[in-house]
Amino acid sequence: MIPTEVVLSPQSYAKVVSELAETLGSEGISHLQLAHHLALVVSIQQENTDLVVLKELTPNPCPICHRRLTFLRETIDRFESDNSNQIRCSMGHRYPGELKVYYLSIFQHNAGAELEKPVKVCPECKGKNIQYLGSDMMFCLDCDWDSGMEPRYQIQRNSE
Ligand SMILES: [Zn+2]
Ligand SMILES: [Zn+2]
Repeated sequence: MIPTEVVLSPQSYAKVVSELAETLGSEGISHLQLAHHLALVVSIQQENTDLVVLKELTPNPCPICHRRLTFLRETIDRFESDNSNQIRCSMGHRYPGELKVYYLSIFQHNAGAELEKPVKVCPECKGKNIQYLGSDMMFCLDCDWDSGMEPRYQIQRNSE
């Protein structure tokens, strides 16, 4: 399961941007800079906001070679852009699969608290690209490790 997008209300967006500008000692932060900083797509909506969208492809590992899927972001993008409902593993096997989308609500855990960052190295791949969404919510940008972020509810993907 990997986070792919943050959905913020205009108020939260303004708050996040001003906090980030302060942290970086910068005058203002563009939408693109924020997205780059979080390494996620950032959307602004009026309803159903302050969520992180997480996506998961199942089955994983590949039923043919039993390898875990790699390059999950790319694999998910490919799955979404192609309507065949086939997952392609890194060995090139194609098999029928499903994309699950979860929504995790953010901000309720870390209201105003200064972020502590206890995890600096990914326990899975030893990468150092750990992204924090809250004091106890983090994920690795290099593999599919996360801090056990529990989705609050799951919405089946519908054909938009
Ligand atoms: Zn395979
Ligand atoms: Zn990792």
